[in-house]
Amino acid sequence: MTGMIKVGVVGYGTIGKRVADAVLLQDDMKLIGTTANTYNYRIKSAHRKGIRIFPVGHSVRREILGSYYDIDVAGNMEDLVTQSDVIVDCTPKGIGFKNKELYVKLTTKAVFQGGEPSGIGKSFVSQCNYDEAVGENFIRVVSCNTTGLCRTLKALDDNYKVEKVHATMIRRAADPWDIYHGPVNALVPHLVVPSHHGPDVRTVMPHIEIFTTSVSVPTTLMHMHSLAVDLTDSPVVEDIAKIFKETTRVRVVHNSDGIRSTAEIMEYAKDLGRSRGDMPEVCVWSDTIGVWGNKVMYLQAVHQESDVIPENIDAIRACVGAGSAQESILKTDQSLGI
Ligand code: NAD
Repeated sequence: MTGMIKVGVVGYGTIGKRVADAVLLQDDMKLIGTTANTYNYRIKSAHRKGIRIFPVGHSVRREILGSYYDIDVAGNMEDLVTQSDVIVDCTPKGIGFKNKELYVKLTTKAVFQGGEPSGIGKSFVSQCNYDEAVGENFIRVVSCNTTGLCRTLKALDDNYKVEKVHATMIRRAADPWDIYHGPVNALVPHLVVPSHHGPDVRTVMPHIEIFTTSVSVPTTLMHMHSLAVDLTDSPVVEDIAKIFKETTRVRVVHNSDGIRSTAEIMEYAKDLGRSRGDMPEVCVWSDTIGVWGNKVMYLQAVHQESDVIPENIDAIRACVGAGSAQESILKTDQSLGI
């Protein structure tokens, strides 16, 4: 593809607003605009940033946005889809599946999120399977947890073959802005095993034997994963730490830097000057890496709001065939300060 890739964002929430900002930072992409499903502070701030707004659905919504809230309306969702080379659909779970019909009808490629069923498009984690997604009409960036698992497991698998994995996801209750979800005062085990994360990892790396369990906990600051990975060889702790340190989108953090919790990682991201205090890298504590025979154990923290943003940018390039995995990952990382 020559020229700028025209990108539309459908669903301007936790993920959508970050994808839109990341697209604005790319020198090979042009943000056509985003949808507005309801009026709220997010749409107000998008409008103030100069992002064009395309209301979803009924024309009354357009009139209200324009006349009551003083938002310049650029068209409707169909216009956005028609004007875009690629739509990044960041709507809540299940809506993307319904929207796919429109993308098919208007022959626009689309990148979906991890809440959608795996059959909706090629499951994608940049550093694992970018090449397999090149030219696909529909790509699904897997969930924040699956992305986090895939990044460190791929690094271990490339260096020591992974025989099998058991991982427990300790999951944040809700995103920080979300006043509706919980738990507020309980630890809630997911009562189905394996949790969906293990099978989801296999949609990206089918050869990985993995069993996952999951618990929701009262925090909004990141997920934590506890992993036990059987390798074909017996590694040493320092080598594992070095491998993670050299792996893109993985950050090794240390107790000696005063990073002992997800709260301190989030504060560190703010101190680094990251937009919205985001930490798109998966953070592995060097102090938690333990080796027991052929088994390596470690704890990693995943910033649910931002770790999938670089993948969305790479997925846009992959589906239009703009550059190799290495070129795209480098370009994305540089633009986001990773
Ligand atoms: P969100 O609720 O924060 O945002 C969704 C946005 O879509 C809202 O602005 C809403 O108004 C809008 N919307 C609702 N219905 C719509 C429609 N019919 N058309 C257009 N817009 C509509 O959701 P989110 O957390 O950003 O999640 C989006 C997707 O990303 C889901 O698949 C989710 O599983 C996935 N995801 C979420 C996280 C996370 O932690 N928040 C992490 C990774 C992946």
